[in-house]
Amino acid sequence: MSTVADRLEMYAIKLSDPACPTCRGLGLVFDPQGGGRKTGDFELCKCLASRVKAPEPPYEYYDETRNCIVPCPAKPARHAIERIRRLTEAARIPPRYMGNYLGPAMDQAEQKGDESTLMALDNAMGTISSFGKGDAYGLFLHGPPGSGKTHLACMVLNEIIRLYRKPALFAKVHRDVLSKVKSTFNTNSELYGEGRRIEEELAEIPVLVIDDLGVKAMTGFESQLIYDIIDSRYDYNRLTIITSNDPMDSFKEIAQGRVTSRLREMCREVFLDSPDHRLTHAL
Ligand SMILES: [Zn+2]
Repeated sequence: MSTVADRLEMYAIKLSDPACPTCRGLGLVFDPQGGGRKTGDFELCKCLASRVKAPEPPYEYYDETRNCIVPCPAKPARHAIERIRRLTEAARIPPRYMGNYLGPAMDQAEQKGDESTLMALDNAMGTISSFGKGDAYGLFLHGPPGSGKTHLACMVLNEIIRLYRKPALFAKVHRDVLSKVKSTFNTNSELYGEGRRIEEELAEIPVLVIDDLGVKAMTGFESQLIYDIIDSRYDYNRLTIITSNDPMDSFKEIAQGRVTSRLREMCREVFLDSPDHRLTHAL
């Protein structure tokens, strides 16, 4: 576990003493039953909880010896927890995948000696630390339905929000990309005329999951739209994670092969075989 945590947290934002054996300096810990939520919640690590001077916003107190108002030692971690909650909400991660983190999944796969899952988790960890390092490479997760692709993609989003507090977004390709952009052409839609804004959001968000990208039944307009989003993300050097039932190569007929060629440059291809219960039970 310590090596997994060390690798994951190498570039994480540290808000407490790195010598703390519980949070290793993060200042916060995830409690799967926390906050009375099914999806768990974050709380201050005990290394900070024991030093709290001001438990309410704005988390500041009067220091008699210095004769001035100073921030509580736990203030940065409290703000971090609030930011994690906001970012998680904004990321539109499906509720069943909220609160899922790589550490427990890795432990479980190790106990079972499940090499294929370990390999996929290892690639996911590599992507997370590459993002922290500022040199992110994406993931192209493919495999049959139910093999845990979406689950793994969401774990990466959860980890990035936990460790780096960067905005991320989960988008199902039909519901949140293709249909949504097409509806902006409809004068009766509340999204009428918003196409450009939606495309820009998808292009610019620091971390994006495009879930369930398929080769079949893509019209010329749809494949061009997907290419434009992927190409802009490439230009901005943004982290992109794609899940698909099809291998990367099968996209080579789409948009004259430009989608595949961009994806090759941006993403590491990872195959997951079914079934997903190995990942699900790991949590
Ligand atoms: Zn701690």
